[in-house]
Amino acid sequence: MNEMQLNLHTIIMKVGTKHTYKHLKFKHPELFSVIQAVEGKRFIERVYRVVYGIVSYPVCLQCSKEITKFRTFQKGYALFCSNKCVAQNRAHKDKKKQTSQEHYGTERPSQSKEVDDKRRETLKERYGTDSLADIRWRRNKAKK
Ligand SMILES: [Zn+2]
Repeated sequence: MNEMQLNLHTIIMKVGTKHTYKHLKFKHPELFSVIQAVEGKRFIERVYRVVYGIVSYPVCLQCSKEITKFRTFQKGYALFCSNKCVAQNRAHKDKKKQTSQEHYGTERPSQSKEVDDKRRETLKERYGTDSLADIRWRRNKAKK
């Protein structure tokens, strides 16, 4: 990071991303005009690009399509272009399995007894039964 980038980063950490726009506009007009000249739909996206020296959009980890979906200053751009690409991505699948193994000791959270018990408990609280078939049947009956 160069001095301007560091300076900008420090300001954002201090004032918070919600107040960045007004703060820069009134207190740092020179930085503000630099940011406004950068490509990007939202102000905070342009700030992000200046701080991290980003000149082009990142690409989807799965299909290499350009990603224009900006999340937050902390998270930056999305890693995938679509939910479809997230679902197809091998590394993402492995990561999900690993996280589930660490948290529940099973490949998927839904295979864990703990998660299943909690799901049944919630259904019982809300509908008085943990049978989805019963709930659907009652719902259809109520519609008629
Ligand atoms: Zn994609």
